[in-house]
Amino acid sequence: MAQTGIGGHRQALRSLRTIMAGDGSAQHRLDRIVKVIAAEMVAEVCSVYVMRAGELLELFATEGLNPSAVHRTRLRVGEGLVGEVAARARALNLPDAQSHPLFSYRPETGEEIYHSLLGVPVLRGGRVRGVLVVQNRAQRHYTDEEVETLEVIAVIIAELIASGGLVSPVETAPAQGNAILAIRLEGVRINEGLAMGEAIHHTPRVAVPQLVADDPDTEHRRLAEALSAMHSELDDMLAHDAFGRPGEHRDVLETYRKFAEDRGWLRRIGEAIGGGLTAEAAVQKVLDDTRARMRQIVDPYLGERLADLEDLAYRLLHHLSGEVRPAEMEEQPESVVLVAHSIGPAELLDYAGKRLKALILEEGSSNSHVAIVARALGIPVVGRVKDALSQVDPMDPVIVDGDHSQVYVRPGEDIQQMVSEHFSERQRRLAAYSAQRDDPAVTRDGVEVSLNINAGLLMDLQSLDASGADGIGLYRTEIPFMVHSEFPSVEAQTDLYRRVLEGAAGRPVKFRTLDIGGDKQLPYFRESFDQNPAMGWRSIRVALDRPSMLRQQLRALIVACDGRPLSVMFPMIAEVAEFQAARSILDMEMKRAVRRGQRMPEPLEVGAMLEVPSLMWQLDSLLPEVDFLSVGSNDLFQFLFAVDRGNPRVADRYDVLSPGLLSVLESLVQRCAERDVELSLCGEMAGRPIEAMALIGIGFRNLSAPAGTVGAVKTMICGLDAGALAGFMNTLLSLPDHSIRERLRDYAIDHRIELNEL
Ligand code: PEP
Ligand code: MG
Repeated sequence: MAQTGIGGHRQALRSLRTIMAGDGSAQHRLDRIVKVIAAEMVAEVCSVYVMRAGELLELFATEGLNPSAVHRTRLRVGEGLVGEVAARARALNLPDAQSHPLFSYRPETGEEIYHSLLGVPVLRGGRVRGVLVVQNRAQRHYTDEEVETLEVIAVIIAELIASGGLVSPVETAPAQGNAILAIRLEGVRINEGLAMGEAIHHTPRVAVPQLVADDPDTEHRRLAEALSAMHSELDDMLAHDAFGRPGEHRDVLETYRKFAEDRGWLRRIGEAIGGGLTAEAAVQKVLDDTRARMRQIVDPYLGERLADLEDLAYRLLHHLSGEVRPAEMEEQPESVVLVAHSIGPAELLDYAGKRLKALILEEGSSNSHVAIVARALGIPVVGRVKDALSQVDPMDPVIVDGDHSQVYVRPGEDIQQMVSEHFSERQRRLAAYSAQRDDPAVTRDGVEVSLNINAGLLMDLQSLDASGADGIGLYRTEIPFMVHSEFPSVEAQTDLYRRVLEGAAGRPVKFRTLDIGGDKQLPYFRESFDQNPAMGWRSIRVALDRPSMLRQQLRALIVACDGRPLSVMFPMIAEVAEFQAARSILDMEMKRAVRRGQRMPEPLEVGAMLEVPSLMWQLDSLLPEVDFLSVGSNDLFQFLFAVDRGNPRVADRYDVLSPGLLSVLESLVQRCAERDVELSLCGEMAGRPIEAMALIGIGFRNLSAPAGTVGAVKTMICGLDAGALAGFMNTLLSLPDHSIRERLRDYAIDHRIELNEL
């Protein structure tokens, strides 16, 4: 081997660059490259192994080994010396390779005559894409400079592999070497569904070519032109109804569009240009400043604004620079799984329709703007996935399971198989649920259960039809309030509620009045920061302290009803006096409507949500006052067990199927039955078949849960003997156990009751 070091190999690198830039297939270029390396490094052998699917390193080109071994010799990562280089992702320098314990003799190669071996990994994006090897007959130790030279050459080979001409990048990704292990990431469910595809990163950065401007006037003009182009682009986006139906996603986009005209933002950019920066540098500076300020404050609303601002700033930078946005790039895989730290709603729409199948976010919450747009697009989204951008590389095959908040990255065949079985099973179940959509939910012993859905967006109304539910057991009115930039007028609210009632087409809807505060902040209504938001100034407490908000909402509901039935429930009632106060505000609005000669709701039903344990000790005075009670089991469980519902560290500490919670609920069932007051439960537990089964066992006959769960719960109900189950559960409630889940599961197995979730 030549002893000239890197400097002496410049000529070789130049030849390699010429080959790379030249014509011919990738294979042809690789064949020429191994020849050049062998000659330049005075090695009798030079071979390139490329990583293929299933963690296999395949001999792709060789100078010196038997040519018939090309595309035949394959080694697993970790197998033989080549496999060892890949597994350790480090060079291996051996004077006598054949005496190494890992030497794996492959007769087809004819390599038994070569003694020394130098292998380096071909790396790209921190992952092993192949192995480059030189071999010599003589026993010799390669110098450090020679190792370095080979590593530099490996960079060029990595480029060739990444070009996709040798094997499809999708195929190379699933191999499981040292740095290419299949991994599973957990996050939180932002939108349900299951999808697979290849990852692309949403990295909206745009290089700012010049920081200091030659002429501020030119920069101001450039900014004005870019802004006007951006505004018309946004107008086009809004004019083009991407979803073919109305919904809150349009409000999200309109809010965003207004933000693009925010005077404060534009003024600060103008000032930065005045200070001597180019337009690009000014936009970037204002974004950096705002980001630094906002990151100091942990606040979901500001987080949302920051996402909008970043989205707009990058959009504007793209207009200024004329660079192509990542979403517009031609080379995208068939099925795209987008990975982003955070993404604005409009940016997500840039990708929509471009084969977008799923979204993974490092941030995000289920009420975020992007979540609402994703729901309108019907793509699964898993959020709060830690370090997603560094764990998932571009073109990695990824499976996104929104139902179970899981992301499988570079899944091995076993996982792919498992998920595709899960996928088929899911499709089979969906078809079965859809076939029983119009059947009533009746147990084997003839007990009817009313199944309803929880909704909060206009687009959820479609699920009402699709699920075959009886009605909407909980309409969370706060979500539309959260996506606006200002308090919606009475007219806007009326219009919204009218659409909900029309969409429900006669099926009952329980409207819950505003449940804001805590983690659900309104952008335009911020009066306090609570130390302990779940127990702070939220929900009915806010409504009673600021009654005009509640009055306007109730007014809108009465007008929207226009003579139809109206069901209203007040959230988070802790004492009867609160219910009475809220009820008297409703009565005031009813009187106002009478005075104005409006058509009155008929009938009007008014209920309370039982979410705060204190109310259990005032049932005697509460029950005569309400038309119905609905248990908000998410909050009730949180307050009964003093367990923060949003804290993953305590999420599994207690079980809703504890004898404690179930006994409280059972006594509530009894008390409501004595007073003939309708009782329902609208927390998440109503949507999990085993938990819904327990609820029916203690006497619940009305449940409300996310739409996607109705089919599974109905299937469970149809296999159930409610009388027999009630007898069995009677024996369990006095147990000192942590949970009766296992006993219920065994019972279901013994009685052939299906407890599958989707
Ligand atoms: C509940 O607390 O169970 C409930 C249904 O209300 P939310 O989840 O909106 O607080
Ligand atoms: Mg609640």
